[in-house]
Amino acid sequence: MAKHMVKCPICNETFDANQEEYVMIGRRYAHLRCKQSAQEREE
Ligand SMILES: [Zn+2]
Repeated sequence: MAKHMVKCPICNETFDANQEEYVMIGRRYAHLRCKQSAQEREE
């Protein structure tokens, strides 16, 4: 599978969207774990 390198807007790390779980935040790809931890901080 081709790599799909994207940058997480939460931790600012580049990752391969085909290798790691991600969520869409608007038009950006973020790590699923970053999104979940960000939500925990807000609550
Ligand atoms: Zn991240």
